[in-house]
Amino acid sequence: MIADLPNFLDLAQPGVRSLSPYEPGKPLEELEREYGISGAVKLASNENPLGISPLALKAAVSALEGVARYPDGNGFALKRALAEKHGIGSEHITLGNGSNDVLELVARTFLGPGTNAVFSEHAFAIYPIATQAVGAEARVASASPADRAIPYGHDLEAIAARMDEGTGVVFIANPNNPTGTWLARAELEGFLHELPGSVIAVVDEAYFEYVEEPDYPDASRWLERYPNLLVTRTFSKIYGLAGLRVGYGLSHPRIADLLNRVRQPFNVGGVAQAAALGALTDRDHVRRSISLNRKGLRQLGEAFERMGLGVIPSAANFLAVDVGRPAGGVYEALLRRGVIVRPVASYGLPTFLRITVGAAKENMAVIEALREVLDV
Ligand SMILES: *Cc1c(COP(=O)(O)O)cnc(C)c1O
Repeated sequence: MIADLPNFLDLAQPGVRSLSPYEPGKPLEELEREYGISGAVKLASNENPLGISPLALKAAVSALEGVARYPDGNGFALKRALAEKHGIGSEHITLGNGSNDVLELVARTFLGPGTNAVFSEHAFAIYPIATQAVGAEARVASASPADRAIPYGHDLEAIAARMDEGTGVVFIANPNNPTGTWLARAELEGFLHELPGSVIAVVDEAYFEYVEEPDYPDASRWLERYPNLLVTRTFSKIYGLAGLRVGYGLSHPRIADLLNRVRQPFNVGGVAQAAALGALTDRDHVRRSISLNRKGLRQLGEAFERMGLGVIPSAANFLAVDVGRPAGGVYEALLRRGVIVRPVASYGLPTFLRITVGAAKENMAVIEALREVLDV
């Protein structure tokens, strides 16, 4: 009865009709299955090459015994540990099923038809998805021009210029994915200072722990000064728990209270909560991850420079590299050589690949494969 199928597209909310699904990095198993190869390298999703911390793993394994019960819906122990880490009270914290969940909670709480959210060109793909899914307008501000010291980054003046009375939320990724670009302390604070208190400023700090730039701000320190500020962090990146889905928001307690009204009661599983708690105790794993990343960024950056490829300055655990031609074909050719990276045409960067910093051997594999494919 196909002829009777309703036109579901017409039934969908207008904002949903124009969305494209989020494109995740290709899973290793999928590549190995499709190409009949083994030992492939995945540098496509900004995951930690050191993997999960042994302390987090131990905590997760022992928490498995308790999975017949619902998790603690209030995340008491994890929130207490995070509160201590950030020197604030637990009432400032909202736990999420990954920080994406927190971004969605913000949209569902503060956006809807007739409102808009403003964010930058080349910004993280979840911002338009979360915005349009609730019927709000996604407004894109031009990125900083290619001839700037930090090209393709957020242009806060352009973002401010796109705002109006309907603006409910501004999303700022610092550093941004997929560009790796970051905003300096004075710049970001100046922006927050000028922002009307009625606009929720989301500062997405998914890569916070990796950043070593001296002028990079910790926006969580500004919560008291800016009650409309919400900072998001995640356990998916440096903490190596991407597969468990834990992130959190830091905000004024009144904002956290609202987000928690919308939140699904058991959005973070018990194993994930336990693993996150374990990960917080392993400072050494974080230190080793930072150090490995620093070396890998240099290794990849220097190799790409020798190959004559343009690279966007990055403060995170990945590099966006300009391959000087439509990157889709290069991506496919790398797949055939057992290397998964991320094409970012859907982010408005059609000649770029985003390459996650891996362990030295993985970085070498991507460098060699890219050299072969580009013949440089
Ligand atoms: C990876 C990433 C996130 C975090 O996603 P999770 O849901 O926590 O896994 C958030 N923001 C940006 C910019 C990211 O790149």
